[in-house]
Amino acid sequence: MENVQQVRAVWTGDEWELHFVCKVEIEVSESPGEKTVGVDLGINNFAALAYEGGHSELYPLNCLKQDDYYFSKRIAQCDNSDSEQATRLNQKQSTRRTHYFHTLSKQIVQRCVEEGVGTIVVGDLSGIREDEENGESKNWGKHGNLDLHSWAFDRFTDLLEYKAEMEGITVEQVSERDTSKSCSCCGRERKANRVERGLYVCDECKTVANADVNGAENIRQKVSPSPAEDRSNGWLAQPSTFLFDKETGAFAPQEQVTS
Ligand SMILES: [Zn+2]
Repeated sequence: MENVQQVRAVWTGDEWELHFVCKVEIEVSESPGEKTVGVDLGINNFAALAYEGGHSELYPLNCLKQDDYYFSKRIAQCDNSDSEQATRLNQKQSTRRTHYFHTLSKQIVQRCVEEGVGTIVVGDLSGIREDEENGESKNWGKHGNLDLHSWAFDRFTDLLEYKAEMEGITVEQVSERDTSKSCSCCGRERKANRVERGLYVCDECKTVANADVNGAENIRQKVSPSPAEDRSNGWLAQPSTFLFDKETGAFAPQEQVTS
C-alpha cells in the first residue's frame, strides 16, 4: 500500500465508504488508428458524435431525465429540503449520475477503438459560458425536468480524457464558437440556414443534417478538415441512437433497448 496518497471517508447516503487515492502506473495501449471524431456535448443529446469518413451517433439523456423526474418528485415529498431523507435522495441521484457518466465515457472510448479513432475532438465549453452571459445560452440549467449544470460537462470531459488516454487516444478541446451556426458541409454561416425539429438545413448547399451532428462535424473539422464529398451521402442526417439500458447497465442501439 505504499502508493496510497490519500484516504477519504465518503458518505454515500446509505453508508460510509473509504476511498483510497493511489498512484498507479497504467499500461497505455497503442493508438487504435488515425481517424478523428467530433463530440458535441449538449442538453438534448448529451453527446453527438461525427466520425471521420461518415458515421454519426447520438446519446440522448433519456435515463437521466427519468431519474430527475423520479428524484425531484420524491424530494418534493420530503418534509423539508434539508432533511436527512432529502439529502439521501440527492446523494443517491448524484451517485447514479456519476455512474451514467462513467458508463457513457467508457462506451464512447470503446466505439472509438472499434472505429480506429486516434483523436477525439471535444467542444470547449468556455465558449458556451460566454454565450450564456450574453443571454444566448445553449439551454443549460433547467430544461424540462432536467437540471444539468455545465460542471457536469467538465466532469464528463475529464472522465473521457482519462479513459481515452488508457487506449492511446488523444482528446483535444477546441472552441465551440459558431459550430452550431455553420453548415458543416459547405461552411456557410447561418443567416437563412435554419434548425427545425432538430434538423439543420443549409440554404446554400441544401444539406440536411441532424443539428447536433452538424455541430460535432464542425468541431471535428477544426482539427482535421476533410473534403465535402465525405459529407455527401446523408450520414449527417442519419445518426445511430444509443440508449442507456437500465437492465444491463450499458448502452445499446435504440432498437435493442426495451424501456
Ligand atoms: Zn451548406
